[in-house]
Amino acid sequence: MQRILIVGAGQSGLQLALSLREPQHANQYAVTVLSGRKPAEIRDGRIMSTQCMFHPALQNERAHGLNLWENQAPRIGGIGLSVAGEDGTPALNWLGLLDNFAQSVDQRIKMSTWLEVVEQRGGTVEYREPTPELLDEMARDYDLVVVAAGRGPLAELFERDPSRSPYTAPQRALAAAYVHGAGRRPEHPDTDAVRFNVIPGVGELFIIPGYTFSGACEMPLFEGIPGGPLDCWSGDLEPAEHWAKMRDLMRQWVPWEYERFKDAQLTDQQATLAGRVTPVVRKPVGQLPSGTPVLGMADVVVTNDPISGQGANNASKFAQSYLNSILEHGDRPFDPAWMAEAFERYWAEASVITTWTNNMLQPPPGHVMQVFGAAAMNPGIRNNVANSFANPNNTTLGWFLDPAKAENLLHQQPQTVNP
Ligand SMILES: Cc1cc2nc3c(=O)[nH]c(=O)nc-3n(C[C@H](O)[C@H](O)[C@H](O)COP(=O)(O)OP(=O)(O)OC[C@H]3O[C@@H](n4cnc5c(N)ncnc54)[C@H](O)[C@@H]3O)c2cc1C
Repeated sequence: MQRILIVGAGQSGLQLALSLREPQHANQYAVTVLSGRKPAEIRDGRIMSTQCMFHPALQNERAHGLNLWENQAPRIGGIGLSVAGEDGTPALNWLGLLDNFAQSVDQRIKMSTWLEVVEQRGGTVEYREPTPELLDEMARDYDLVVVAAGRGPLAELFERDPSRSPYTAPQRALAAAYVHGAGRRPEHPDTDAVRFNVIPGVGELFIIPGYTFSGACEMPLFEGIPGGPLDCWSGDLEPAEHWAKMRDLMRQWVPWEYERFKDAQLTDQQATLAGRVTPVVRKPVGQLPSGTPVLGMADVVVTNDPISGQGANNASKFAQSYLNSILEHGDRPFDPAWMAEAFERYWAEASVITTWTNNMLQPPPGHVMQVFGAAAMNPGIRNNVANSFANPNNTTLGWFLDPAKAENLLHQQPQTVNP
């Protein structure tokens, strides 16, 4: 029996713990999750993300019996783009249809429930504030310590990798809310869709249909370029003030979205969030004060700005990749060389997602704007773009990262006029 300690009760940590405790592996792995917060505290706490998860990540959850809200959560059938023009209307506006639906389940629901399922699957959960000193004390009893504590202070156990981290400061000011009472966009009244509104030079407004305690909701998320008019979230606003300010910004910058949100109300008093994220890649093997090596997973070692909506998806892919590495590893010790290999196996697939996300934080290059423009006239192109955002990899993202591949996309697709 190998003993694994997982630090942090988020998307990656809990998915890994729960997949290791599936019946076919349960005799091989004793799993302990260390969580700073109890389920009730998570449920009563603040929203943490907008967590839209696409098909590849949802498939990971299904494979491990973790898709507990699949029948309640809205099925997101498309990704739409609107680019603000100078006259207050979108200069570009289209919807690409996804081959498979996406979903967003409030992490307060998911993580608090998954913690309980860890115990139902015979895992152990310890509720203690994880400090490096506590980890050192506990690590003696485990064969492997995986740190999955998100963007919190434990990330400092892992050294920043400057060769993989082009930014040293946040590139957006973030503000999110969960609300009831907003209808769908009038252009697609029958389709729930992620809406990606771009305000050139100012920032973005994402809107994600999701599921929270009180049912289906919308999750708008502003991304403001630092120093610009959407970078206005310093100070801790009351929830109602926060939402009023988000609506004012919608009215001013994305009035076509304001129309459907003007009467919307917060889902609850903890349904607002403001903050900033510094995109960073860290070295995957960290050291506790005693020198014990620990393996980092998901945001703790690869933090992307939410602009591409990939963090929770990456967390799921990380957990799946580490699960495979652990299962294939047999009974050998989990040494730093194995840890580094496990990370590189993940990174070989996922580094392109970080490259793409970092590029999204800059003004789009000409070939990307050309594809976005052509997509308005051509369903093949817009569906292709939407599906590449849902399943980003070296192949699907070619058109974004390589002007020659963008050119191919423009020419390969039949030019069908938008109905
Ligand atoms: C505003 C916003 C919107 C986002 N929208 C999306 C989106 O639409 N789609 C998407 O895919 N991703 C999105 N993300 C990113 C996504 O939520 C994260 O990347 C993902 O949840 C990371 O998973 P994780 O397992 O690394 O850590 P987390 O899910 O963050 O979990 C870490 C856990 O560790 C705990 N923890 C951390 N530090 C400590 C500590 N010191 N003591 C005790 N416990 C600790 C936390 O409480 C948490 O339980 C968004 C992020 C933000 C900020």
